[in-house]
Amino acid sequence: MSHTISAQDLRTKVARIIEQAGSTPEEAAQVADNLVMANLSGHDSHGVGMVPRYVDAVLEGGLSPNTGVKVVLDTGPLLTLDGQRGYGQITGVQTMQMGIERAKQHGVCTVALRRSHHLGRIGHFAEMAAAQGLVSMHFVNVLSRPVVAPFGGGDGRFGTNPCCIGVPMGNRAPFVLDFATSRVAQGKMRVAHNKGEQVPLGHLIDEHGHPTTDPGVVVVPQSNGLFGALMTFGDHKGFGMAVACELLGGALTGGGTWHQEADNQRAVINSMLTMLIDPVRLGTQPQFEQEAQAFADWLRQSPNAPDSTGVKLAGEPERAARIERERQGIWIDEATWAEIEAAEQKLKQR
Ligand code: NAD
Repeated sequence: MSHTISAQDLRTKVARIIEQAGSTPEEAAQVADNLVMANLSGHDSHGVGMVPRYVDAVLEGGLSPNTGVKVVLDTGPLLTLDGQRGYGQITGVQTMQMGIERAKQHGVCTVALRRSHHLGRIGHFAEMAAAQGLVSMHFVNVLSRPVVAPFGGGDGRFGTNPCCIGVPMGNRAPFVLDFATSRVAQGKMRVAHNKGEQVPLGHLIDEHGHPTTDPGVVVVPQSNGLFGALMTFGDHKGFGMAVACELLGGALTGGGTWHQEADNQRAVINSMLTMLIDPVRLGTQPQFEQEAQAFADWLRQSPNAPDSTGVKLAGEPERAARIERERQGIWIDEATWAEIEAAEQKLKQR
């Protein structure tokens, strides 16, 4: 049986589980808020379905409750932070708060956050910056299991490496481009697998490197004990973006890149390079705002393509989903709900 639950009830349930896993009530509430916001935004892959994985990671010691960032270097416009495997919903927000403060002061700030636990939906951080009138760019690598194949390769060699660009649009809602460099997010394959759905060809290769429509190849070990892999979006171009995320998010931050065999640990480690720019300090604010809005208007004047509801700008689908799901509740599939319940039981029985 699937569940439709209000955002508030879901927050309460998730916060209770995260607290049982060792977090303070404040931390648990912040993690729960962030996960439920991902569901509200239409990204179930980065929402409360992550809770069982977080619980396992805490129990294994790969995720450290009540652990914030440690400052490694702070020169003002350059900031290096160690996430110390704390919840990304905490370390990511701390990173942005510190980066925003410094960008306001110096006009720019580059923040290298290394070794955080899963940062969830990266757009959350771009939205924080845009709300303060700042442009932000985020490059992230993912150390958990190498689930994405290089263009021209036949097995998984790196993670779903998300990239995100946030641009404030004056008195309008911001542009928030936030995507995995894999054709689809790994979490979306978990959701599809849990729902018993197939996915279109061109998203996945199986454990032998052959094209497949079965999302299970990247969710459960296959007959030979190996996994299949996701493909990057946009052929060689998406692959290039994924490599850029690994080089900037993984290598430049000091967090580390993929070059080892996967283990069975459940922790998901993210490192993120964030660059913040204050258009006011750049001296272009009035033109920036005017030109950005004029371009958005120009785009929207394009006639609708057949069967399309018209041009949207990145960030709009998430905002529309929030309005709808706040009103109608959040639908959680049966398998995801059962996994969340099982995680809660596991904590009670230890
Ligand atoms: P996606 O394919 O749904 O693309 C989302 C982006 O495209 C958003 O910016 C959205 O506003 C925009 N968009 C969607 N439909 C549009 C339309 N019709 N017109 C214009 N723009 C449109 O997202 P995804 O690649 O599945 O990624 C989902 C989430 O997963 C992201 O929030 C990402 O940060 C997160 N993620 C996190 C990690 C991690 O390790 N922390 C890893 C991978 C992905």
